[in-house]
This record gives sequence, structure tokens and C-alpha cells, in this order.
Amino acid sequence: MRSHYSDEITPKLDGREVSLCGWVHEIRDLGGLKFIILRDRGGFIQITAKKGTTNEEIMNKIDKISKESILKIDGLVVRNDKAPRGVEIIPRKIYMISRAKSPLPLDVTQKVRADLDTRLNNRFMDLRKPEIASIFKIRSKVLNVGRNFLIRNGFIEINSPKIIASASEGGTELFPISYFDREAFLAQSPQLYKQMMMATGLDRVFEVTTYFRAEEHDTRRHLNEVTAIDVEIAFIRDENDVINVLEDLIIEIINGASECHNELKILKKEIEIPKKPIKRITYDRVIDILNDNGKMIEWGDDLDTEAEKILGRIMMEEFNSELYFITKYPLEIKPFYTMPDNEKYSRAFDLGYKGVEISSGSQRIHDPELLVERIKKKNLNPENFEFYINAFRYGMPPHGGFGLGIDRVMMQLLDLQIREVVLFPRDRHRLTP
Ligand code: ATP
Ligand code: MG
Repeated sequence: MRSHYSDEITPKLDGREVSLCGWVHEIRDLGGLKFIILRDRGGFIQITAKKGTTNEEIMNKIDKISKESILKIDGLVVRNDKAPRGVEIIPRKIYMISRAKSPLPLDVTQKVRADLDTRLNNRFMDLRKPEIASIFKIRSKVLNVGRNFLIRNGFIEINSPKIIASASEGGTELFPISYFDREAFLAQSPQLYKQMMMATGLDRVFEVTTYFRAEEHDTRRHLNEVTAIDVEIAFIRDENDVINVLEDLIIEIINGASECHNELKILKKEIEIPKKPIKRITYDRVIDILNDNGKMIEWGDDLDTEAEKILGRIMMEEFNSELYFITKYPLEIKPFYTMPDNEKYSRAFDLGYKGVEISSGSQRIHDPELLVERIKKKNLNPENFEFYINAFRYGMPPHGGFGLGIDRVMMQLLDLQIREVVLFPRDRHRLTP
């Protein structure tokens, strides 16, 4: 329907006939002079109708146009130093493509600011704001860069089931669903399936996946439906080989996001480019640092929100590092499939970014007997995991992997809360739209 997007209209096109389609962002009526600011994916363009030069029919039509209606405008490009971006359109024909009702549920021009709930309830309109659209353009870039990095490094993309018969990991709450005459669950992660792929010879797999978690969180960084990049790698020497892949992946992702110059300018955000190597620090050292800073954490406890925040600040102050790996976690706070380092410690790590965990990973157990022992130790029933353990009995290489939460990456990248970086977030209170 259109010949150009608004950002393609430059003074160089002076004298050209063009067709534009977009939403009516604003209308200004100065009597004999009427302006329509038309908005499309490319930005804004000024349509200028002048009494005398523009025909009467068009002048009258403009009076009846409601904000946020969709117009198709055929017109002439005219260079005008006083117009935004030095160019405007003199309309020859205006077609009403879709009329918007008024009042509007949201003010797209943001003269009236809406709260997040109102915005999420009207997400279709919220995304008409260039800043909000920019968040999701950056998100698309992040996912794309991540996927390309993995493919380039020999990873094979897989899709594992999201409807499962029993808990993948224990610990996290599952959403039960009815599956014909049986009970089933939504998958909390592809963990068991990506591990089974390690017994196939594919060696390096990943999945851009959804986690479903029935946790009754009500925080700025938890949702019940999460997007993540899940990775699993065979023939590793230890967890450091996994950490190295995650290090390169996250640096590539942040670099990629920092190249979204237009979007970052619209959002008025700057992204700090990470440097390699990313700081690595043991769990024990983290506990010491926190305790020295007046935040008491017992050895063997997970870091709470406040502890994560304090740690993020200290890592910045002392090591000038927004990203950091926490290594050698206590075995008991990590899932059953985590490889023990010794009786006390595991080969598990987390990746922190500005005071929030964005990824967890580890070397996994590949010996089936040890696996059964660990499952029992966690008070889980090995019979429920038969299909999984069986894949370890006929040749399973040493392996490890991680899950990188994309919603968390996005929120930390842009200093927003998690609901703002997900199109239609699912939380305790929100199931529609
Ligand atoms: P947390 O302790 O922060 O609740 P977790 O340790 O339970 O997270 P993992 O099972 O380690 O989460 O999942 C791997 C990654 O997936 C996390 O590091 C995070 O980036 C993301 N993730 C997991 N659960 C959620 C959630 N409820 N909301 C948003 N992201 C999540
Ligand atoms: Mg974790």
C-alpha cells in the first residue's frame, strides 16, 4: 500500500509523489493551516495542508479525522527547512483506512503517562510508542545474535516437549494440565531432554525455549512464563568449558544490543560493552564479601534479592564489572543432576548481571549410578526418571550446560522491570491479554 516509510522520506526526494500509510499521531489545526503528524514503523512525517493550495474537500476531511486512525496519504514531497527533518508532504489524496474510536485507552503521545497495568492491558497501543517498540526491536536482536552465535559455533537447534509427565528438576512448582484422561505438566525447562541429547552424538545443542514456573513470586524479576536460551555441551573437561561458552555468548549478545543505535537513542539508554574475561568469583568468597558488607548470609543458603543487589554493586565498585560468574556453589542447593566437586561443593555456577542472576549452569553427572543416588538424596523417585536415566546407561559423555533467561537479560540491559520487556507477561495476577 505504501511507497515509502516515513524515515525514507528525505529532502532529496523533493518533488516526488509518494504514498504513505500510518497512524495519526497528532493533528494541529491553525485554521488555514492544518498539520497531521503521521506515524509508521520508521518514525514520524509531517503532512501539511494549506488553505488555497490544498483542495477544500481534503481540508474538511482533516477536521473529521480522529487520533490514531490509519490513513493512506498520496502526496508530494516538499523540502521545508522549518518542518521536522527538513521535509513535509503536501497531500493530494487522503484515504481513511481504519477509523480509531475515541477516547483512546492510552495516550500514545505520552502527554498523559499511563501506569504499567494500563499499558499492559492495552499492549497493542502501548507498542505504538517508539520507545516501547524499541525495547522489542532490541529483544529481537538479542535473540537473533544469540542464535547466530550458537549456530556459528557448531550448535544444533532442537525443540523439546513442553507437555511432560513429571517434574524435570524438582524444587520448582509445576503447572498441572489435563492431558486426555491423565494429569500432565507444563515443562519448567528442557533440562532432561537436552541432557538426553548428549547421548546421541549431536554434542552441542540449544533451544530457544519457554519455561513455565508455578512460583507465587511477586517481584520485579520473576514471571511464570519465561523465555530462555538453553544450551548443553558434550565432551567438556569440566564446568569451565561451559562457562567459556556462556562468556562468549553473553558478550556477543550485549555487543549486539549495543549496535541498536536508533533504538537506544529513542530509549535514551547506553549499554556498557563487557570486557573479557568476565570476573569469576567463588561462592565462598561471595559469602565473605557479603558478610563483610553487613549482609549476613549463612554458608549453604542461596543469595536473596538484597544479597544479589549488594553483590552487583560491590562487583562494580571493586572490579568495575557489570557481569560476574559465581562458581563452586554448595552441592545441596543445586539440582540433583549437578556434578559434585566433592562432598561439599558442586560444579555449578551462576552468571550475575548488575545484581541479578541471569543464568545458571553446571557440569552434569554422567554416571547413571551416581545420578540415581543423587535423585534419591533429593527425596525424588528414580522411577519417575527412568526414561532419562536410561539414556545414561549406553554411553553418555561428560557434559554440561546452562539456561540463560532472556527476559532477565533484557531487563538488566535496559534497566527496566521484567514486565516491561515481555510483550504479554504472565504473573500471579495477569493471564490476559
Ligand atoms: P531465581 O533464583 O532468580 O528465582 P532460578 O535459579 O530459579 O532463578 P534457574 O532454574 O536457574 O532459575 O533458571 C535459569 C535462568 O532462567 C535464571 O538464571 C533466570 O535468568 C531465568 N529464570 C528462571 N526462573 C525465572 C522466573 N521465574 N522469571 C524470570 N526468569 C527466570
Ligand atoms: Mg538459577
